[in-house]
Amino acid sequence: MKENYDLWINGKWEASETKDRIEVVNPATGKVFASVADASTADFKKAIDAAEKAYYEGPWGKSTPAERSKIIWKLADLLEAHADEFAEVETMNTGKPLETQCKPVDVHDSVDNFKFYSTLARDTHGIVAGEYVEGITHVFRHEPVGVVGQITPWNYPLQMAVWKIGPALAAGCTIIIKPASNTPLTTLMLGEIAKEAGLPDGVLNIVTGRGAKGEILATDSSVRLISLTGSSGTGKRLMELASSTVKRVHLELGGKAPVVVFKDADLQKAADIITLGATFNSGQDCTAATRIYVEEGAYDELTKLVVKSFEAVKVGDPLKSDTDMGSLISKSQLERVSGFVERAVKDGAKVLTGGKQLTEFGDGYFYAPTVIVDAAQDSEIMQQEVFGPVITISTFKDEADAIKLGNDVIYGLAASVWSSDIGKAMRVSHALEFGTVWINNHLAVASEAPHGGFKQSGFGKELSLEAVKEYQITKNIAITTEA
Ligand code: ADP
Repeated sequence: MKENYDLWINGKWEASETKDRIEVVNPATGKVFASVADASTADFKKAIDAAEKAYYEGPWGKSTPAERSKIIWKLADLLEAHADEFAEVETMNTGKPLETQCKPVDVHDSVDNFKFYSTLARDTHGIVAGEYVEGITHVFRHEPVGVVGQITPWNYPLQMAVWKIGPALAAGCTIIIKPASNTPLTTLMLGEIAKEAGLPDGVLNIVTGRGAKGEILATDSSVRLISLTGSSGTGKRLMELASSTVKRVHLELGGKAPVVVFKDADLQKAADIITLGATFNSGQDCTAATRIYVEEGAYDELTKLVVKSFEAVKVGDPLKSDTDMGSLISKSQLERVSGFVERAVKDGAKVLTGGKQLTEFGDGYFYAPTVIVDAAQDSEIMQQEVFGPVITISTFKDEADAIKLGNDVIYGLAASVWSSDIGKAMRVSHALEFGTVWINNHLAVASEAPHGGFKQSGFGKELSLEAVKEYQITKNIAITTEA
């Protein structure tokens, strides 16, 4: 890691044309430890030009699937070789535990993702040719969409970058990626190893800047697709901006995952996984377990188990090997989470455990794992995304009621169903309008399995072959074969 980063454009570090900097803070200590450039629109334009040149004139446009596959695999190998450094920087930049999260998940799974996309670069199935009109042979080509803009959030900085860069490279696109302004480091660190892996200059450009600076990626006519993982507000804004050039839009936005627990479920297992699902990455996860609905009759038992399990979560120094949960990402996120809980209490809800900032860890932004009950279904805490280690527990009467309550939010990213009756679990999972529904599980993700939202959680998949398809466009070539 360097202390002060420039922009990664056309295969080298380029100073921003402005002198504006963004300070990078360690949220577990509240201390600044690095800085990056706050790029101007002209800097973004330079990166777009580099990506355009690399796509239309550079070797990437002519690369074979085998060549792309080899480079992506090498990139995975180099990331693995630098795994400890990437994990340490991710911990410093996000406050999440090094041993239990950054090493085994953020970095390990990113290596796996790149390897997976390396293999998909060669998966050319589905390209067909046929004679549908006499004297003409049709050939359907799956071409890269071209230059793409990608904007990532702060909750999984490296992983979200890899989830976007991997399929775009596999498809043959060139990229301008803008990480979240408070967590830019591990994305910037990918620049040099991508070059070392043999990625031609200009294929991957990494530009840092505060929020709205990235809007040019949605408006510039050379950019063919804009992909965002972020808030619903930013998604709506980018979708609106993208309409001026009829740009493809790929959005992974907020979530408010319901967890539907039937009486016949293994309640201890449900409580343990609800705890993990709500406190992993301090609950700053759009698939986090947030709204727990338990069948009447099992409420007291499940609530007791969940509270006990929440109180056993070890919160603290992310560098200590036995820490389960680190800090929140920033002071403003701490204020946001506190505000949600305070307003829920004002609205009549009750806090069973947590509900406060933890101040024993110095100036870091720590918040206690929090269980709330007696919240109304239409209250803010039940309807809006908190993005902190906070859950509500409430009851449902029967299957139909569980489905109605589960679906009663604007979001549709992820949900889970808990029951020992597989038929019932399948019926409910089918009726829940969410992109991922776990049965007797919550949070599990695999490179092979599509991830993406329904409703206002966005559209377009990440992970799996479907992610590569997002970065491809089908061309029909009709060849006259008559003599
Ligand atoms: P969060 O609440 O997670 O910060 P945001 O949607 O604000 O969600 O941020 C997600 C990503 O979108 C970040 O990289 C952020 O800088 C970027 N972003 C925020 N606002 C805009 C905008 N108006 N145009 C382009 N990118 C934006």
